[in-house]
Amino acid sequence: MTEELTKKAADMLLNGATLLREPCPYCTGVRVMKEGYALCIKCGREPEKKEVPAAKIPESTSSTIKKTIEKKMKILSTELENETDHEKQQEILKTINSLLETMGKIKDDK
Ligand SMILES: [Zn+2]
Repeated sequence: MTEELTKKAADMLLNGATLLREPCPYCTGVRVMKEGYALCIKCGREPEKKEVPAAKIPESTSSTIKKTIEKKMKILSTELENETDHEKQQEILKTINSLLETMGKIKDDK
């Protein structure tokens, strides 16, 4: 996953994008979707525009975790923006990546 893709995905999520339940048809990566625009965070492909219902978020615990992750994402996104050290950028990106994966798993539970 490239730095640019991760940041794009994080930005999309912060702006109300949802994670798609269906994995990427090319690489089975996690995809985020906003306003009919789906982006795979692994390979960066953007399959055809189509209406895919967003995965259901189970209430209670999962939504609490999701909120926490979203807060973290916001912080990490700002950190990434201001970070000039390349190694630290990679560290931040790794964290963002695992947060995205966690979010995907939460949604897949239900
Ligand atoms: Zn993909």
